[in-house]
Amino acid sequence: MLSVIIPAYNEEQMIAITANTIHNLLNRAEIEHEIIFINDGSKDKTWLHIQQVSKAYNQIRGISFSRNFGKESAIFAGITEAIGDACVVIDCDLQHPPQKIIDMYRLWEQGYEVVEGVKSDRGKENSVYKLASHTFYQMISSATGIDMSNSSDFKLLDRKVMDILKMIPEKNIFFRAMSSWVGFRTAQVYYEVQERQAGETKWSTKALIKYAVTNITSFTTAPMQIVTILGILMFIGGVSLSILTIISKLEGRAADGLTTVIILQCLIGSVIMTSIGIVGHYIAKIYEEVKRRPRYIIAERIGGYVTQNQ
Ligand code: UDP
Ligand code: MG
Repeated sequence: MLSVIIPAYNEEQMIAITANTIHNLLNRAEIEHEIIFINDGSKDKTWLHIQQVSKAYNQIRGISFSRNFGKESAIFAGITEAIGDACVVIDCDLQHPPQKIIDMYRLWEQGYEVVEGVKSDRGKENSVYKLASHTFYQMISSATGIDMSNSSDFKLLDRKVMDILKMIPEKNIFFRAMSSWVGFRTAQVYYEVQERQAGETKWSTKALIKYAVTNITSFTTAPMQIVTILGILMFIGGVSLSILTIISKLEGRAADGLTTVIILQCLIGSVIMTSIGIVGHYIAKIYEEVKRRPRYIIAERIGGYVTQNQ
């Protein structure tokens, strides 16, 4: 059986369309399936719509978080709850073309354990966004050693991979990178990013920056190494300046120093502050991880085997 995992945050207009599209598609292809909607603390009527579709179809069920925990948490809740032999993670807005699920499923039948959806184009994005996301993926790619520039969360995972992901105790998990990091026999399916059918993107610039920083720091310690390199550069600069000053002193003309002093003060000060900030960020990450809080809290469930038992 295939479990389709759909995280949904403020997607009231999309739930019914997405549910029908995917359900009909898989029925036509005669693929046994379940569809799991994860309501990530939506503020609109998303949960109500999920309840409706799960009442209409036996194969559809829903999980509702107590508040917004973010897409990664929603995906992991889906993987934890799924009972299929494989799962597909897909966005609720149909920007990932659902027909590709069939291609992924066929590849899985051929024995592939991870099937990645790869964007063949990035859809409509402005150039600043493109540059930012390029830089971000460059950092993640060099940290993982896997080219991730066109990767997405649209993926099929075999039960084996799902069980491994479930066992990973990290709280700050970057799903996209993690599912490549685990390895296994991997295939790619290329797709074109579709226009969002209804509603709007959940990513503000602030949210995107936070997302990038969180994922970079949870996947690589490169920024901390940059601190060391900066330290070394400052040291070399400092030594050369000291030698120059001593020479000037010996030659009997004291350096006319105030400008130099001010520039040095500012430079050293800002480098130290930035460095402490970067180190502090990692300490914050460690702090979050040691608290061992759950990734998400489930407030309600609807449909599927859960209600049948009650
Ligand atoms: N999403 C979520 N929690 C969030 C933000 C988004 O579950 O806090 C879901 C959203 O409902 C959608 C998917 O993640 O199914 C992708 O979100 P969106 O379409 O806004 O992102 P974009 O396609 O613009 O990158
Ligand atoms: Mg989208």
